[in-house]
Amino acid sequence: MIAATIRTTLLVCARWVLDFALPPRCAGCGTIVPDVHSFCAECWKQIEFLGEAGCGVCGLPLQATDSTVCAACLARPPRIARTRSAVAYDELSRGLAIRLKYGRKVAIARTMARYMAPLVQSADSEPILMPVPLHRTRLWSRGFNQSALVVHELSRRLELRSEVLALSRTKRTPPLKGMSPLQRRKAVAGAFRVRDKKAIAGKTVILIDDVLTTGSTAEACARTLKRAGAARVELITWARVVRPVQLMR
Ligand SMILES: [Zn+2]
Ligand SMILES: [Zn+2]
Repeated sequence: MIAATIRTTLLVCARWVLDFALPPRCAGCGTIVPDVHSFCAECWKQIEFLGEAGCGVCGLPLQATDSTVCAACLARPPRIARTRSAVAYDELSRGLAIRLKYGRKVAIARTMARYMAPLVQSADSEPILMPVPLHRTRLWSRGFNQSALVVHELSRRLELRSEVLALSRTKRTPPLKGMSPLQRRKAVAGAFRVRDKKAIAGKTVILIDDVLTTGSTAEACARTLKRAGAARVELITWARVVRPVQLMR
C-alpha cells in the first residue's frame, strides 16, 4: 500500500518535471508547438470555436434574425442566465476532456482555461467560480474533480474567487444519454445540495464544467443554487454538443 503510494507520487513528480522540461506540445495531437497550452496549425483549423456567437442567453446558434436572444429563451428565460462554451464537441475536444480525467491533468486544465477565460464576462464584477460537483463515490474512484482543476486554473488566471466545496452532489445519477428531457430532469432532481449558503447568498455563480450535453445537470445545479439564494447563475464549459436539430430550433 505504502509502496504503491510512493510509486504514484514518484510518477506524478516525474510527469510534473517532464511537463516543464520537454518542449510544449499541441494539446490536440501532441506535435511540438512554439507556445505552451495551445494547438498546432492543423488542429487549430479543425477546432470549431464557439466563443460569443449564438443566443446571448443559451449560446445556441441563432437563426437569421436581428434579435440577440433566441425565441425559446425569450418565451421562457432559462434558469442559467448565460451559457458559453469554448469549442464544439468533436473528436479533438472530446479527446482533451478524456485526458483531463485520466491523463496529463494540469497541462490540459491550463489549456482549457486559456480558451475559457475570455468567456468569463459576467455583468457582476465579483462572480464566484464553481465546478459542477461529482458524487463522492465518483470522487473517491477518480481522486479529483476534473472541473475543479479548470476552476483552479481560471481562478488563478482571472483572479476571481472560487468555491469548490460549497455545492455538493448528494445523489448518484445514472448516465443521462438516451433519456427523454423529462426523464433527465427527474434523474437529476434533488441531486445537489448547497453546503455553504453564506458563500453564495446574493452572488453571481459561474458554474464550470468540461462538456455540456443536454444541460440537465447544470440546470439542476442552477435550481439548487438559486433556491439557496444565489442571485444569478451562469455556465461556462470547455466543449458543447451542438446537434443539427438545435441549429433548426
Ligand atoms: Zn495538433
Ligand atoms: Zn437562447
